[in-house]
Amino acid sequence: MKPDVEIYDTTLRDGSQGEGINFSVTDKIRIAEKLDAFGVHYIEGGWPGSNPRDLEFFAQARKRRFKRAKIAAFGFTRRKAVAVERDEQIRMLLDAETPVITIVGKTWLLHVTEVIRTKPDENLGMIGETIRYLKDHGKFVVYDAEHSFDGFKDAPEYALATWQAAEKAGADVICLCDTNGGCLPADIARITRAAHGKLNTRLGIHTHNDCGLGVANAIAALEVGATHVQGTINGYGERTGNCDLTSVIPTIAFKMNKTGVPASSLPKLRELSLYVDEIANIRHNPRQPWVGQTAFAHKGGIHVHAIERVARSYEHIDPAAVGNHRRVLVSDMSGRTNILVKAAELGFALTPETPELKTILSRIKELESAGFEFEAAEGSLALLIRKILRHEEPPFKIDTYHVSMRGDGATSLCEATVKLRVNDQLAHTVAEGDGPVNALDGALRAALVKFYPQVRKVKLADYKVRILESSVGTAARTRVLIATTDGKDEWGTVGVSGNIIEASLQALTDSLEYALSRKN
Ligand SMILES: [Zn+2]
Repeated sequence: MKPDVEIYDTTLRDGSQGEGINFSVTDKIRIAEKLDAFGVHYIEGGWPGSNPRDLEFFAQARKRRFKRAKIAAFGFTRRKAVAVERDEQIRMLLDAETPVITIVGKTWLLHVTEVIRTKPDENLGMIGETIRYLKDHGKFVVYDAEHSFDGFKDAPEYALATWQAAEKAGADVICLCDTNGGCLPADIARITRAAHGKLNTRLGIHTHNDCGLGVANAIAALEVGATHVQGTINGYGERTGNCDLTSVIPTIAFKMNKTGVPASSLPKLRELSLYVDEIANIRHNPRQPWVGQTAFAHKGGIHVHAIERVARSYEHIDPAAVGNHRRVLVSDMSGRTNILVKAAELGFALTPETPELKTILSRIKELESAGFEFEAAEGSLALLIRKILRHEEPPFKIDTYHVSMRGDGATSLCEATVKLRVNDQLAHTVAEGDGPVNALDGALRAALVKFYPQVRKVKLADYKVRILESSVGTAARTRVLIATTDGKDEWGTVGVSGNIIEASLQALTDSLEYALSRKN
């Protein structure tokens, strides 16, 4: 079945222009395979004329079979005053041997005369001849019309003439681009509608997020006739990034009630988002719409009570529809309902009648007044409930530890030793690190890995320290929050002490204990 809207992913090309994004060829292949399995329709792999890495990607992609997605190579129209068949860059595009070629060309008269410095008619020739040449070579051609909206505002007749040149030459998609991300949704809608009225070719939309409107602008175009949308996973891209497909894809499905990717893929959206962040080595944005960790997080007693009764009253969609889940944040405003809901979410069967409930509540209150906070530390909270509820022995116990540091003014090195016990067996390990917490973490893991090989997969994702204000008569205390991941899930743990190392050790211990408790 043909989808209402085609999804064109450019994470590997436009997305890789983003600061801090650097994909190896292997990374690109892995992401392409994931995108294909997810069900996007086109994957733009790179620009063969720009670097050897992109050439290598296409060489490897040729050897693979993609189930749904078609691979696209990206390039420019022929150079001015050069015959298309003699243009080196066009030859490299064909050499990439992709089924799809995407060509970017000039729409804005200002760019034609001032940037590439040629005549308006020559630009029309560059667009038409390049597209026709690629069509003659059997390619599916997407024409990316750069600065479509600025160009149209400046000289509508000329902008239209460039699109018509692409249409006449046989382009399969004409994609209007808001290249500098400066347009408003109303302009995007007005101009897309105008293009739609004059062209018969499928219209696409490519937006950037410079005004925070990347997604809104793409949707504005899809509402008035565009049926092809370009963007990147997690909104990677130059400056503030491209239109974020992790928002566009569910918006098409759940808000516009149109088909895009297969319906069965939608619950895998969060996983796709995390996967790409993981490969890019970027920390997932917790506030990312739809897929972020806080996208369905709720706080506050009354509110949580209502959520329990009617989830629909506070959520715009069922979180599971995009592979996310509801989270209830615990805070000192929270009453019994919060804890009950949170406990259920963490997998405990706790009811208002459970005899341990009172103990759990008073323990949480006590710790919160001592400076603990559990909102971002569900790992520690789960352990607390588990200990009171199930009276289980922890998977390990630390007998003693020692941390030392030496430095010569220029460099410093920390060393930690840990003596711990698993059942009746003792482990005694030492590790070095560039900081005390790092050394402690190393020693702890070295001891545990002998008993629990799964700790190898567990990584520290984030470490935060906050100095808590001292009240009269007490010394300042430190709160340490640690985020840990096993590559799939992430959890937080917390420690509080007058001593930063001690607070860190509490949080580290909880994080590993939680990791181990999850496995069984
Ligand atoms: Zn772009």
